[in-house]
Amino acid sequence: MECIFSIDVEDWFHILDVPSMPDISRWSSMASSVEKNFLRLLDLCDQNGVAATCFFLGWVAEKFPHLVKEAGRRGHEIASHGYAHRLVYKMTPRDFLDDAVRSRQILEDLTGGAIEGYRSSGFSVTAETPWFFDALVQAGYRYDSSLFPAKRAHGGIESARCAPYRLGRNAASLIEFPMTVTRVFGRRWCFFGGGYLRLAPGFVIRRMARRVLTEGRPVIFYIHPREIDPDHPRLPMSLTRSFKSYVNLQGTEAKIRAILREFHFQTFSRFIAERGIELGQENNQHAEA
Ligand SMILES: [Zn+2]
Repeated sequence: MECIFSIDVEDWFHILDVPSMPDISRWSSMASSVEKNFLRLLDLCDQNGVAATCFFLGWVAEKFPHLVKEAGRRGHEIASHGYAHRLVYKMTPRDFLDDAVRSRQILEDLTGGAIEGYRSSGFSVTAETPWFFDALVQAGYRYDSSLFPAKRAHGGIESARCAPYRLGRNAASLIEFPMTVTRVFGRRWCFFGGGYLRLAPGFVIRRMARRVLTEGRPVIFYIHPREIDPDHPRLPMSLTRSFKSYVNLQGTEAKIRAILREFHFQTFSRFIAERGIELGQENNQHAEA
């Protein structure tokens, strides 16, 4: 079993649900750090012979089309992070569909190939958005990596399956890759991205990853370009949010290097090509694993 390294390609100001987050009408006038940090992440991957899956925000792809092309040229998979970085549970099904289609079309125009994968902003799929999977199929996607099967500020479905699976019901062709969690002290935790990846010691993260692999599940790591840049600008926010968003940025790059060195990786689309046939079918996506 192998790991998957995923990058959510967005800028330093794309932080959800804080009052200081600028409106999309102001994004173009903001100083940007995505270019420098994304290319650095690609370099780290290349140095270790790792092909990543890059979930591009449609807005970023439109503003920095050369980043999409460069990632594709270096052999990384291009996928979609939606267009405007809106929370799924704050959109109507119609708005969601428009946003998901718009980003796919921008990325397909740039790559000249089909965009198969989607990840929502903030893993914001909840029990209140049962229309999400059908809308994704309608928007032309083949797989999704938006379910967070543990407690979380934005969304999260604690009872969701942990291993990748095929969705039944109307979304017959969609494959779901829930974010990787593992049980510690009776609770599910994700050590493989976000605040926990930045906070937990590297050896703990790698030990947890080995445990997940021996259970026969892929480990999905996720990172944002801003997380390897301790000097990026900060948005004003509450102390708690600030801790979650900015803790230990200075130690993250070294941690990523060690992870990329130790494990074997493949992209989501390679995983589906090699193992898609073995995946279990789930008729109720909210069922316990
Ligand atoms: Zn995001």
